[in-house]
Parts: sequence; structure tokens; C-alpha cells
Amino acid sequence: MERVAIITGASRGIGREIAKQLAKSEIKVIANYNHSEKEAKELKNELEKENIIIDIVKADISKREEAHKLVQFALEKYKKIDILVNNAGISEYKMFTDETDEDWNRVINTNLYSAFVMSQEVIPNMIHNKEGCIINISSIWGIIGASLEVLYSISKAGMNGLTKALAKELGPSNIRVNSIAPGMIQTEMNNKFSKEELEEIKEEIPLEKIGHVSDIAKCVKWLIEDNYTTGQVISINGGWAIV
Ligand code: NAP
Repeated sequence: MERVAIITGASRGIGREIAKQLAKSEIKVIANYNHSEKEAKELKNELEKENIIIDIVKADISKREEAHKLVQFALEKYKKIDILVNNAGISEYKMFTDETDEDWNRVINTNLYSAFVMSQEVIPNMIHNKEGCIINISSIWGIIGASLEVLYSISKAGMNGLTKALAKELGPSNIRVNSIAPGMIQTEMNNKFSKEELEEIKEEIPLEKIGHVSDIAKCVKWLIEDNYTTGQVISINGGWAIV
């Protein structure tokens, strides 16, 4: 039977491209969305034109009960989950001293707690199958930190810690856990930057360009096909941060 993948936050941006590329590689895709139902339906329709069928499932993955329902949907329909891509995320651009407890809860729950609960929900099935691949989409800022994005940086650093520790715990069950840490990728997440600011950022990047969603999707595909990489944080950033 085809491999089964859950991709969180697949209605837009990086997650959408990952969903598309995996679906085109004969992987059964369950594309999660929360608010962007129209975009999720458009993705499903677009793929249907190529005779590729995916499932789209609404769930706010920052909430345990909704994450649980998303995983149950996959297990009831396909009986197994081979791949989990924890991609859903939000950014937050604020002075640290202005951050509130509500900001902390929103950013940490959406970016980090979601990876914790989604992983917990899928792992029993992966252990049973003695096989699995978990990919966390973290960020360059989780490695080097970003001014005005302290909560975001904390959430992504947490994801990288989760990746490394879980890889050690799950290695004996043949479950690989890795992070991809993108630099600046052209998506709606970066709409907060003006054209001029984006040009300035480009000048700081050795490859002199902003990344494309396909740059991340290609790495996801490679990590799925690989069988000896685990516990790694793979930076894809055009050389913006070389650590
Ligand atoms: P985006 O275009 O803003 O898309 C974010 C996606 O996450 C949307 O599909 C959104 O779904 C989903 N999402 C947000 N909160 C959710 C929730 N509670 N439950 C379910 N889905 C939720 O962002 P992106 O640039 O593609 O970012 C994708 C991931 O890459 C994020 O984790 C981000 O931190 C990371 N990243 C991005 C960049 C970059 O430069 N773009 C750089 C480094 C890391 P709905 O719209 O349906 O709610």
C-alpha cells in the first residue's frame, strides 16, 4: 500500500507545496488546514485535475483534541501513518517587553506544542509498524535567534530540541526525526516586509535570492526517501546563516 503522510498547515505556503510534491510522488496526503478552507479546497481541486486524490482535514493543531481527531481520521481511513510533517506555524513580530501571556500561549502552542501533540498522536502507530519519518519545519531563528521574534525563536529552538531528543528515543523503533530550518522563503508569512526590506535581506544572503517553497519541499522528499539521517537540523537558507 502507498505511504500515508499528514502535513499540518498545508493550505498555504510551504506546507501546500510539500503536500503537492508528496501527492505527486504517490504518497497518500492528508493536508491539514485551519482557517484557509478555500485555499485547501483549491489545492484538492488542482490535484484532482491530475487524477491525484488527497484528503483535506480542518483542525486547529494547537489543541490536543483537534490534533487527536486529525490523526484518528488518518488511522480510520488508511490504518497507518508513515510520515508526519509538522509544518503549521505562525510568526510574531514584537518587542520582547510588549509580549503578553496570550502571545506566549498562541505562538508556543501553535508552533511547538502542536509538534509535541501531533508526534505523540502518531508515534504509537509508527512504533507498531516499526517504521516512521517525522519532519519538523523549524527556522533559522531557532538556531541563531531573531530580534523582535523572541517567542518565535523560542518555539523553533524548542522544535529543534524535540527533534534531537526524540530521534534518540525513537531510533531503535526505526523512526527518524529531523528538522528543516528554512531561512527566508517567499510566502505570505513574510508579507510584513516591504519590497525595500526584502531587497535589503537579499543583499545579506550569499546566494542573493529569497528561497522558494520548492526548496523546502525537495528536502522533505529527500528526507522521506533517505534511511540513515536522524536527529539533524538541516538549514536551507542560501548561506544567510552558516553555523
Ligand atoms: P504561511 O504561508 O503563513 O502558512 C502557514 C500555514 O500554517 C497555513 O497553511 C495555516 O493554515 C497553517 N496554520 C497556522 N496555524 C495553524 C493551526 N493552529 N492549525 C492548523 N494550521 C495552522 O507560512 P509559511 O511561510 O508557509 O510557513 C510554514 C512553516 O515554515 C511555519 O512553521 C514557519 O514558521 C516555517 N518557516 C517559514 C519561513 C518563511 O520564510 N516563510 C522561514 C522559516 C520557517 P490556515 O491558513 O488554514 O489557518
